[in-house]
Amino acid sequence: MKHFHQPSSPEEALVIKEKYGNQSVFVSGGTQVNSCDFKETFTHAISLEGILSDTISKTEHGLEIGANCTFQQLINDPQVPQVIKNACRLITSRNIRNRVTIGGHIGSNRSNGVLLPVLLALNTTIKLATNQVGIPISDFLLSGKTSLVLSAFIPSSELKRFCSIKHYRRSANDRCILVAAASSFVVNQHFRNPLIALGGVEETAIRLYEIESTLDSHMLQNTDSVELQVASTVHPEDSIHCSAPFKKHLAGVLVAQALSETISMGGAS
Ligand SMILES: Cc1cc2nc3c(=O)[nH]c(=O)nc-3n(C[C@H](O)[C@H](O)[C@H](O)COP(=O)(O)OP(=O)(O)OC[C@H]3O[C@@H](n4cnc5c(N)ncnc54)[C@H](O)[C@@H]3O)c2cc1C
Repeated sequence: MKHFHQPSSPEEALVIKEKYGNQSVFVSGGTQVNSCDFKETFTHAISLEGILSDTISKTEHGLEIGANCTFQQLINDPQVPQVIKNACRLITSRNIRNRVTIGGHIGSNRSNGVLLPVLLALNTTIKLATNQVGIPISDFLLSGKTSLVLSAFIPSSELKRFCSIKHYRRSANDRCILVAAASSFVVNQHFRNPLIALGGVEETAIRLYEIESTLDSHMLQNTDSVELQVASTVHPEDSIHCSAPFKKHLAGVLVAQALSETISMGGAS
């Protein structure tokens, strides 16, 4: 990295990005951009420090989280749903959580990013500097675009979902290999509009739309069949951490566990 730009507004950041294109990268927390794992090379770093909101605000419409809000801020704020805090805590080092921003987490679009499945399962929309109307986070992740994220928004109706997160990692300090989140409204132990998201099995975190529609309006009667359905839907690759068949099996188990917990949370409502 040869040049470090400190724009004074998101608009100025976009102008610099436009000018240097693939030679430039936004930097918010810097935990990924500055890590040894980061193999891409850039000559221009564009700092987002101080120019994007880091505010968390809850209104009657929903919960809005500024892109520069850190994982530790999310954990500390009483307005934030527990399932989001649980996801943030999966990054075990507090030092790292003090740096990692939600904008950087979404922008890095890592398949196994710990918070992405929960954001997907809560129907989160994101505002971009180029499109402030708000687009579903699922569209953004699948597009693989590098647009500037300004904020994430969870509508108040979605905050009423019962939502659970499950993960697999080899040790308590390891990065997660797989992360599953499920959410649903629950009526008499039946799913209503369930959402299932899974990270670590494809290039980006994904929703399992087909399985969601099979479960809608049903009880969770057979977790074995859910496990098999998930395993046959996803296409993970072998990695040094675990084999593809093992990932498929684990993905099924984690999704079934998350769904089961979601129904339990819904109780007899
Ligand atoms: C020791 C260590 C352990 C970690 N463990 C985990 C773990 O267990 N699980 C996990 O999920 N992550 C882990 N990570 C953190 C990983 O780097 C982050 O998940 C996080 O996504 C990066 O956030 P950041 O704010 O630091 O982003 P940066 O490093 O600043 O940026 C990351 C990417 O996002 C882009 N970007 C930044 N801000 C924005 C924005 N507002 N809009 C659009 N694009 C943007 C950047 O251009 C860059 O491409 C770990 C990191 C370290 C160093």
